[in-house]
Amino acid sequence: MNILNLINQDVSSENESGRGMVTLRLLYIVQFVVFSLDLLFAGWDTFVYFKVRILAALACMILFFLLTYHIRSETAVVCYTMFTFLWLLEMIPCFGWSAGMQNYFIPILMMCFFATHGSRGFKFTLAVVVLVARIMSIFCYGLMLPGVPISDISNRLIQTANITAVFASIVTISYIYSHRENEAESKLMAYNDRLVKEAGTDQLTGLFNRRKSLEYLADLERSNEIGTLSIVMGDIDFFKKVNDTYGHDAGDEVLKGVAEYMRKMCGKDALLCRWGGEEFLLIYAGKNGDETYDLIDKLRIYVMDHPVMVKDTEISVTMTFGIAEYDFAGNTGITIKEADEKLYIGKQSGRNRVIY
Ligand code: GH3
Ligand code: MG
Ligand code: MG
Repeated sequence: MNILNLINQDVSSENESGRGMVTLRLLYIVQFVVFSLDLLFAGWDTFVYFKVRILAALACMILFFLLTYHIRSETAVVCYTMFTFLWLLEMIPCFGWSAGMQNYFIPILMMCFFATHGSRGFKFTLAVVVLVARIMSIFCYGLMLPGVPISDISNRLIQTANITAVFASIVTISYIYSHRENEAESKLMAYNDRLVKEAGTDQLTGLFNRRKSLEYLADLERSNEIGTLSIVMGDIDFFKKVNDTYGHDAGDEVLKGVAEYMRKMCGKDALLCRWGGEEFLLIYAGKNGDETYDLIDKLRIYVMDHPVMVKDTEISVTMTFGIAEYDFAGNTGITIKEADEKLYIGKQSGRNRVIY
């Protein structure tokens, strides 16, 4: 198991998010690395003089790190808080106030806010406790020098190491919590987009559904940008016979095939919608009736000339279309009705034709 797996290992409890634990493990590791550097910079004399408390601090650090694999997140945050409090209590006398270890109060505060699910009251109480502890540390340790004299340069190196560790801890906490939050938000937005898309899409053909096409027309009318516009109502001829002859599933495949032909022939000019059953609505914004007629007649011929392959069977269908041009004196509802009437005329006069 590599180090990343070790840090990322999930929490023991199934109903908890693992990010609190991952953050704590990283904080312990940062603290461990910097503590080792502190010892290195402070020198052998400091280690010998404070041997017991240094070894005890290291042992506690390892113990609390290992505990993150066995306890619940809230308990782990309490342990981290306790550990850091004790560690500060023991280590400031070793390394002196100028080492800057008291800044570890900030990561504690952040963890209490981000990684616990307590009430607002609980969190603010914790904040006050941390603030009081921080202020008390000024009065207890504010002027404290290192237990064993260390050189000026070592002192500065220790200070640098500690402030870097505090920054690293703050960045770790902020990154993990903001990043995962953003991730969750993006997931939610993508899910929402999918729902919106699905709500306007016909499941079988993937074309827009009636609802979406009506929305589109309503938006067009509302925006007052509606210009030349043609609406086409198309219907597959004798589709009932297709179902009766080849079965309903084959009928579905034909609907999908015809939708594909429509996408291929009209996709770039028109908004395509399955109006219901084997009826389709095509909206040509910016095209007049004559232009639309030419395009739709090409589609009619294409459908007629290209049987849909269903398994090994070729199923030929034809389509009839009615076209109506939008009249500024009326509304798009009237245009749809007109297209439907033209379609009816097409059916009456023999099918497989375009009526405008
Ligand atoms: P016409 O040329 O007059 O349009 O004749 P038609 O048989 O196509 O029209 P009719 O309205 O009599 O029949 C339409 C058929 O379309 C009946 C219905 O079962 C079938 N149908 C509607 N929706 C679906 C569907 O989603 N899948 C399949 N397989 N069939 C469908
Ligand atoms: Mg039909
Ligand atoms: Mg029909």
